[in-house]
Formats: sequence, C-alpha cells, structure tokens
Amino acid sequence: MAWLRREDHEDRELHWLGPWGLPSRDSGGRRLPEAEDALRTVFQRDRDRVLHSSAFRRLQHKTQVMAAFEGDHFRSRMTHSLEVAQMARSVARALRCNDDLAEVIALAHDLGHPPFGHVGEHALDAAMQGYGGFRHNAQGARIVDYLEDRYGHGHGLNLTLAVRRSLLKGRIPDGFPLSGDLLPKAAVPLEAHLVDTCDRIAYLSHDLDDGLRAGLFAEAEAAELRLWREAAAAAGSPTRQRVVSEVTSILIHDLVESVDDAITMATPGGAMPRVQHSARRQVDTQELLEFLRQRFYRSPRVLAVMDDGAERIRRLFERLVRDPAALPPGALARIGRDGVERTVCDHIAGMTDRYLLKATS
Ligand code: MG
Repeated sequence: MAWLRREDHEDRELHWLGPWGLPSRDSGGRRLPEAEDALRTVFQRDRDRVLHSSAFRRLQHKTQVMAAFEGDHFRSRMTHSLEVAQMARSVARALRCNDDLAEVIALAHDLGHPPFGHVGEHALDAAMQGYGGFRHNAQGARIVDYLEDRYGHGHGLNLTLAVRRSLLKGRIPDGFPLSGDLLPKAAVPLEAHLVDTCDRIAYLSHDLDDGLRAGLFAEAEAAELRLWREAAAAAGSPTRQRVVSEVTSILIHDLVESVDDAITMATPGGAMPRVQHSARRQVDTQELLEFLRQRFYRSPRVLAVMDDGAERIRRLFERLVRDPAALPPGALARIGRDGVERTVCDHIAGMTDRYLLKATS
C-alpha cells in the first residue's frame, strides 16, 4: 500500500476545500525557512508544535472561570481549548474550510492567557500601562514567536504566517512588542473567524454546565432560557449533560447553516462571508451570556477567588520589578532585550494559577 505523503494531503485539500478554505500551500511560510516534512502539511505540523509546547501544557492548570482547585471536574483552559478544537474541526470541515488550520488556531487561541483569566489580564494590563500594555491574544503571538524557545533560534515555534496572524484577532494594545511582520494587522482567514465563534459556543455551553455543577444556579433557573427549554425538549432526557450537549449541538448546526448561506451569497474574491449565528440564535446566545454574567461570572464566589488572584498579580508584579534578581535565569536573561517590566509581565503571564498562589503565599 502506498502511504500518504505531504504532497498527497496538499493535493487532496485542493479537491475538497471550498472557495474560502485556506490551502496549506498558501500558509504564507515561516519566518525561518525550514525543510518540509515528508508526512505532514505545514498546518498539521504547526498543530503538533502547539500541542507539544510547554505553554500548552500549562493551560492544564489555568483557570477558565472556576478556579481549578475548587474541583476536579470543572474546565481548565486546556480542556476548553480541546473542546474548541473539536468544534472548530467539525465546523470547518462541514464548510469546506481547512480543518487542520482551524484546529491549530483553536489549540493555540488561549496560550497567552495569564493566571486567573480575564481578571488576571486586566491586572497585568493595568500594571503595564506605559510599557505597551497586556492582552492575551497579543501575548499568545509573543509566546509562539519568541517566548517558547524550544529550538534556540529565537523564532519561538516558528509557526506559519497564517496561524500567527490568526492568533492576533481582536484588539492589540498600542506599543505591545510584536514581530514586525505581524504589523500592520492583516485580514485573517475564515478559519480564524470560525474558531472565534466556536470559542464562544464552547464557553457558553460549558460554563452553563460548570455553573450548574457548582450549584451556582439551578436547572429550574436555566429553564428561564428559551435555548435551554428547546434543548431539553429535543434531548428527550432531563439529565444536565444531555441538555448541555444539545445546546452545543443546536448552536453548532445553526452556525454551519448560517455561514453556509453567507458563503453561497458571497462573490469569490469579494468580501469575506460573515461568520455569525442566525438572527434567532444571536438572541439566544446573548440571553445565555447575560444569564451567565449575572449568576456565574459575577457571582460572589467566583468574584472573591478572582479578586484575590488579581491582587496577588499586582503585588507580585511590584515585588519583581523592585527585585528582578528574584526572577528565574531564563527570564533574567531577557531583561536586557525586553526591559524589566515586560520581562516580569511575561513571567507572571506564563504562571499557572497554582504557581502564582505558591509564589505569593
Ligand atoms: Mg477561549
């Protein structure tokens, strides 16, 4: 039997990708040119590099919303990223987009998150005012381009341009240190937009699940949501897991149908099709987000843990800027190039929740 070589995968892509799928041959290349792999396309290779990075392993102990130490069954950023990757692959494939590209963007989309989620992000951004600020998406690009120094060539994981650009989706603080070839920001492939919406579907569904599991609200309250009632009826089973999985499924199917319509209407070479839910599901997801804000994200129990985390980040930042000699050798070596504040920021952003707790106890 003839085994499938990289060239075979690349040829097959050209047969099944639709007009908006990005072929791996059009990845934009790597900053540091490398010989091609015999088995894998560039996007498959990028995916494996992300999967084997230490930044990815650290996601295991980073908080999504529930602090990891509150229970073993809540999502961490790693399980969240895996869930997003699973959804993004299915959606991309259904829409004839490049599922390998969608997978690597999904696996890498939260690499830059500091400990204690968005609260940690705000704390670091406040500390870095005047030094280029902080935001998780920009930090994700900084990790794969620079900080994850596995090969010692100074180009981080040396991922393809299409993937690196896709990680920068969203606002970037003025003056944040990025590789020159990422600026000015360029359009991202459709796959990046799909991952973005899958990210939202993933956290809306699993936060609903985790919030119920944690007892922050009851199923009777969730039943105030039209989407929950519809999912419960469709699931034909009252178990929480079945209903939550039906919520995910409704949203994924809606996304595929809605983007498929947009692709049909779009002119090749014209404006990129809008990646969004149908009008009905936009209302549903907004309602669900508002529900989670009230009962989960802003619940006293979650806020208390998060506020404590933010305070620890603030104190640790000040302490390390005053006394950079306390940094580990790898970080110390970067001070000359990056400055004390950015080095301390990179160091804290890389910490897991529990490492931060230990470092500040
Ligand atoms: Mg996410």
